[in-house]
Amino acid sequence: MQTSRINISEIFYSIQGEGFLAGVPSTFIRIAGCPLRCKFCDTPYAASAKAGKKLSISQILKQIKKYPTKYIVITGGEPMVCPNLLQLCKALKKYHITIETAGIKFVTGLKCDLMSISPKLSNAYLKPSDRNTYLKIDELQKIIQNYDYQVKFVIEKAGDIKEVKQTIEKLKKIDRAKVMLMPQARQVSEYTKRGEIVAKLCKKYGFAFSPRLQITLWGNKRGK
Ligand code: SF4
Repeated sequence: MQTSRINISEIFYSIQGEGFLAGVPSTFIRIAGCPLRCKFCDTPYAASAKAGKKLSISQILKQIKKYPTKYIVITGGEPMVCPNLLQLCKALKKYHITIETAGIKFVTGLKCDLMSISPKLSNAYLKPSDRNTYLKIDELQKIIQNYDYQVKFVIEKAGDIKEVKQTIEKLKKIDRAKVMLMPQARQVSEYTKRGEIVAKLCKKYGFAFSPRLQITLWGNKRGK
């Protein structure tokens, strides 16, 4: 375990901005590397697997011990493609672990308390043929069957709800109470504008609204 090294983009202490745990002080471990290139990605600096600094698991543990929270968020990039994710989660067993993922790869046997899944709609990619790369229903299905989860869809326009419904219909036994909609935004002005659209959709279809406190509190500033 101690010799495993992981490409870490950054480790920082902040407030969880999204999902049902929004507002909870949490330590973020951002793993570098993501096979996708979403149009609205707010962490492009973590997209390349080479963008991080190689840290051993003991170095990671040493850093997170500084922060007064039991809540850890493993984010990215796409953490589920990290070869040493199993070892990292095992080493963090005394913490509450959220893994933030696009839901494109299932990994068995992880110690994970909450899979925070953000399946990509066509507003994330450039051409229709990208769909099979950005949305993998079989992998998504396995994740929601094997872990506690929340599913957050990024909404750009009201019409995106059609794809949300189509995606949900393809998933067996998904709990609609765990589905959230959140505005696509990197700036407060976009968040406010699209937030109104999203709130209307949430009321109409009964999904929860996910805030994005990292935008409203800190303007999406890195490390906040
Ligand atoms: S999946 Fe996440 S990290 Fe990867 S490109 Fe899309 S928004 Fe960025």
